[in-house]
Amino acid sequence: KPEPKKHSFEAEVAQLLHLVTHSLYSNSDIFVRELVSNASDACDKLRFEANQNDALYEGDSELRIRIDIDKDAKTISFIDNGIGMNEADAIEHLGTIAKSGTKAFLEKLSDAQKQDGNLIGQFGVGFYSGFIVADTITVESRKAGEPASQGVRWVSDGTGEFTTETIEKPTRGTTVILHITDEHSEYLDRHKIKSLVNKYSDHISLPIQMRKEVWQEEELTDAQKTANAEAGETTKGEMPQGQMITTDEWETINQASALWTRSPSEITDEEYKEFYKNLTYDYDEPLTWTHNRVEGRLQYTQLLYIPKKAPFDLYQREQKHGLKLYVKRVFIMDDAEQLLPMYLRFVKGVIDTADLPLNVSREILQESRDVKSIRDGNARRILTVLASLANSDEAEKQEKYKQFYAEFGNVLKEGLGEDQSNRDKIARLLRYATTNDDNVVTSFDDYKGRMKDGQKAIYYLTAENLAAAKASPQLEVFKKKGIEVILMTNPVDEWAMNFMFEYDGTPLQNIAKGAVDLGDLTDEAEKEEAKKAEETFKPVVEKLKGVLGSRAKDVRVSNRLVDSPALLVTADGELSPQMIQMLKQMGQ
Ligand code: ADP
Ligand code: MG
Repeated sequence: KPEPKKHSFEAEVAQLLHLVTHSLYSNSDIFVRELVSNASDACDKLRFEANQNDALYEGDSELRIRIDIDKDAKTISFIDNGIGMNEADAIEHLGTIAKSGTKAFLEKLSDAQKQDGNLIGQFGVGFYSGFIVADTITVESRKAGEPASQGVRWVSDGTGEFTTETIEKPTRGTTVILHITDEHSEYLDRHKIKSLVNKYSDHISLPIQMRKEVWQEEELTDAQKTANAEAGETTKGEMPQGQMITTDEWETINQASALWTRSPSEITDEEYKEFYKNLTYDYDEPLTWTHNRVEGRLQYTQLLYIPKKAPFDLYQREQKHGLKLYVKRVFIMDDAEQLLPMYLRFVKGVIDTADLPLNVSREILQESRDVKSIRDGNARRILTVLASLANSDEAEKQEKYKQFYAEFGNVLKEGLGEDQSNRDKIARLLRYATTNDDNVVTSFDDYKGRMKDGQKAIYYLTAENLAAAKASPQLEVFKKKGIEVILMTNPVDEWAMNFMFEYDGTPLQNIAKGAVDLGDLTDEAEKEEAKKAEETFKPVVEKLKGVLGSRAKDVRVSNRLVDSPALLVTADGELSPQMIQMLKQMGQ
């Protein structure tokens, strides 16, 4: 019999394993959720593939997850009859980092952050979480549709290496055996594991089973019975002697009900929150959620969550986004990005519909009009939820909106360009700092409410940061006249404002672009003075034009400056310096 083959972990895995074993002690419970979720994923994958090829079930289509504790051997096994792995799969999936984004995440973490187990726990470390409680993990697996002789055994102690060998495995699927360290022997307890499953994995829509336990009374020997009788101990018989023993029977310990299919009135906040954590691996509670059954030409259930915190890769282009898609409770895909517009990519949740085929692919989703109508419905719903927070009189909801805006406000702005049909709704949700208030709290409506008599436009300025905005010479005349100007300081603002010409009937004007017409705010005397200045400076202007040549489009006398001698402005319809900078950063 050949020796097991030795392999080294990918460098990033070794790094991750180090983090797992060194900084996740306080989160040791998570291995249950991670391994159950992998087993559930494996069953989902099998079900999905079996849609095309029923033979993969090998006559056993009752998918389930079993957890078996062996106190004597000090092991906990997670046993599924899902898709399984062959040797090549095991080497690839358990020796490298599967989750896209994990590498980027690891690179981003500072050393201090790496010590912070909580942060890493929030991120979810998948399969490797087993090494928090185990000193060795053995995985035995056989892929659906492949012969029993092609099973694989993968073994690692969670340091630099793992081994693989071919084994005979008649049953399809994967068994993950954790060899629990003495330090974590508390997990070798059925009640402990059951309570963790109920906490984390109740809504997994597959049965999760553990061995049934029964109470067995101790058989008394004849000698003991006689002794008892002689002692006249009648009470002894009423005190049952015995112990709990595990049987060969399995019982289902989770609810296995897909939460979203239940009526909202029957679901507690706690259940919604747990479901969210299960869905997203977020350790925080969600900020808010909305759960609806949408009836109409198309019927679907939407359960949408807004997280409290932005993920670290919110601004990365390849960031996964989208919702989990189910068709009649059957899991179809993660990150169905067609179900959400890009600017709502922070929304998490589930869509379940009976109106799409089970074998729907991403390509089909892209083309489908039905999917577009679900996406529009989701966008409208989220914007409604946000508006109800933003406009609420309740302090708690206002606070939630503030939290939301601090995390996701700049992403929301992308919607001005991306989603014309909802532009007004989005604009109403935006908040900015202004020359009156450094806090990012002023809405366009607030601003309009404070406009001067005779003011005909909403004035704004874009800059790299608040200090730069406030120091801008463009503001001088506005300061002098006491006119409030909105200060936009995020790189996305300039781009987004290209799509906004007016708000609720009032034109929007970038004060750094072209000539600023202060209209009725300029009095007659000032107009006179401006004219005079133009005359006086005509020779200077002509000279400057000559010197600057094609480097300046125009030179003119301005009424905008109070203290500064000169100012560079961008012509209407041209890219501003910030915009050019941003495009450069984006590699355009
Ligand atoms: P993720 O689940 O996010 O992909 P994990 O670290 O949890 O990351 O798992 C890594 C990979 O190992 C999975 O993507 C899958 O391919 C494989 N895997 C883990 N557990 C199982 C299992 N029970 N059955 C089949 N494949 C599995
Ligand atoms: Mg996983």
